[in-house]
Amino acid sequence: MGDPKPAEECGVFGVWAPGEEVAKLTYFGLFALQHRGQESAGIAVSEGNRIMVVKDMGLVSQVFDENALNSLTGHLSVGHTRYSTTGASEWKNAQPTYRATTRGGLALAHNGNLTNTDELEAWLHQLDADANVARKDSMDSTNDTSLVTALMATYEGSIWDAALAVLPRLEGAFCFTFLDQSTLYAARDRHGIRPLVLGRLERGWVVASETAALDIVGATFIREVEPGELIAIDAGGLRATRFADADPKGCVFEYVYLARPDTAIAGRRVHNVRVEIGRTLAAEAPVDADVVIGVPESGIPAAEGYAQASGIPYSRGIVKNAYVGRTFIQPSQTLRQLGIRLKLNPIRDVIAGRRVVVVDDSIVRGNTQRALVRMLREAGAAEVHVRISSPPVEWPCFYGIDFATRAELIAPGLTVSDVCRSIAADSLAYVSVEGLVASVGLPKRRLCRACFDGVYPAPIPTAAARAMRLPVPAPTAPSIVAAP
Ligand code: SF4
Repeated sequence: MGDPKPAEECGVFGVWAPGEEVAKLTYFGLFALQHRGQESAGIAVSEGNRIMVVKDMGLVSQVFDENALNSLTGHLSVGHTRYSTTGASEWKNAQPTYRATTRGGLALAHNGNLTNTDELEAWLHQLDADANVARKDSMDSTNDTSLVTALMATYEGSIWDAALAVLPRLEGAFCFTFLDQSTLYAARDRHGIRPLVLGRLERGWVVASETAALDIVGATFIREVEPGELIAIDAGGLRATRFADADPKGCVFEYVYLARPDTAIAGRRVHNVRVEIGRTLAAEAPVDADVVIGVPESGIPAAEGYAQASGIPYSRGIVKNAYVGRTFIQPSQTLRQLGIRLKLNPIRDVIAGRRVVVVDDSIVRGNTQRALVRMLREAGAAEVHVRISSPPVEWPCFYGIDFATRAELIAPGLTVSDVCRSIAADSLAYVSVEGLVASVGLPKRRLCRACFDGVYPAPIPTAAARAMRLPVPAPTAPSIVAAP
């Protein structure tokens, strides 16, 4: 049976560049971010007076063709590629979301997950009641992004003012790119849980979830959008302000699996971090073996690191069909069951008769690794030693990664030996939380590791906290609230 990998929620992109084909730049930016979400894609473009939005279900290359892109003319644009963690996988939840405002329109794209949507919904109803508006369509889609868009659109005044009123009230993880008719905006939550970077074109600016997307459109990396920062870019240039004090807690799982290996986050090259995690894993969990192989793609640099540090030769032992999406991407269980067989195939000459160390990035439910071990034994492996480049996933993520519910995770309640028996490996070891943090090279306090240690850096929904017997979080009052 297949097993979904942890799923990234979304990728966001934005460009302000008069004289450039901004829709095409956004298309290529989203193309570079396709790994962050493969259920729907969308682009909103403005030429100064009118915002046009095209979005649909499917991959970026399925949603947009030359004609669609040529029809999206303007000088600023935002784009989105989506995997659904809140709201169903259907058209009305595709992004960018659009709302009319008293001054025109607002289109918004979101990566992350908000954790106080009940409060925000109540606030929206209150705003509507105060304005005596019977808003039938305030929740015409079911995701947290629509709620933020509605709140900003409802707020009187400019989008800049609306953003400064709404952003401090949001809890959880968010990276937004949004636009009105004339201005591109970007904002990142005060913990900077998801990545967001700013780049420069010869005649404009780009914001993107990952630096790899800057590379692909020829933009130069300038800096990260800081945690708690709001940026606006228009004909007057770039202006930035803080809507909350920064308290960085970047998602450590971006380094393990989620981000592209050619991306840099907080100054760390993701590929190099993955190699380093493999080296750490070799030091923490050595084993006598003949060959080290990695599970494509994110297990491979960690396998190389394991081989370098252990002295055991590395070889490519598993081939991935590059044309099959990540297994998590198909939401139906039937398709998931086909996932591993469609996707991975062993190279028998590398495996047969050998004691194999196989390095993978994570174990969620255990089904993938069980199928993997069986596949390697069928290919003739004498022994199969599984090494995992993340610690056991014990807790759910509330900040935009879909691991499965706690009840579905294999690690809680089982020892490593139990899991080893369950996947029928000869040995199993995970990198430690300390080893992972040391491999990333940032102070522990600057990283979110909640799915591994249950220490949530931002409030989580009260009902979930109660269900997990965690202290019910108090909403954090924003330490900076800019007056609109
Ligand atoms: S809980 Fe895990 S996956 Fe979610 S943001 Fe924190 S480190 Fe990343």
